[in-house]
Amino acid sequence: MRCPFCSAPDTKVIDSRLANEGDMVRRRRECLTCAERFTTFESAELVMPRLIKNDGVREPFNEEKLRAGILRALEKRPVSTEAIEAAISQIMHQLRATGDREVKSSILGEWVMDSLRDLDEVAYVRFASVYRSFQDVNAFREEIERLQQPATESDKNDK
Ligand SMILES: [Zn+2]
Repeated sequence: MRCPFCSAPDTKVIDSRLANEGDMVRRRRECLTCAERFTTFESAELVMPRLIKNDGVREPFNEEKLRAGILRALEKRPVSTEAIEAAISQIMHQLRATGDREVKSSILGEWVMDSLRDLDEVAYVRFASVYRSFQDVNAFREEIERLQQPATESDKNDK
């Protein structure tokens, strides 16, 4: 890469090592022209897909927004911060693993519901009632009743 001191095009790597517990490579470079030394850090660029909202509007994924939604559903529920953070990491991993540049926000919503269902059923119903905006009381009651049934084979296969 170009020297930041004299802008000469050729610099040479004189040392290369892992940094930040292996998430980064730290390189010492020396300019072949002015002999100045400098350091560069290289890390993987983890690009989160953008979300496509129901009205077609695209917006960048926002981890804080995801966390806020999950915490709101889990308010005053007996679920550890550790379990919540693990769920958030899992959801973000799923999102990245799609390999898509854009993902429908409704798919993200389904994943949030899946993980809330595992964490805490009350939180799940809270989130689902807002998210799915149950059309009527009957739909809501059906969902509650479905929750009270033992998991069916097809439910298990979803996991
Ligand atoms: Zn230079």
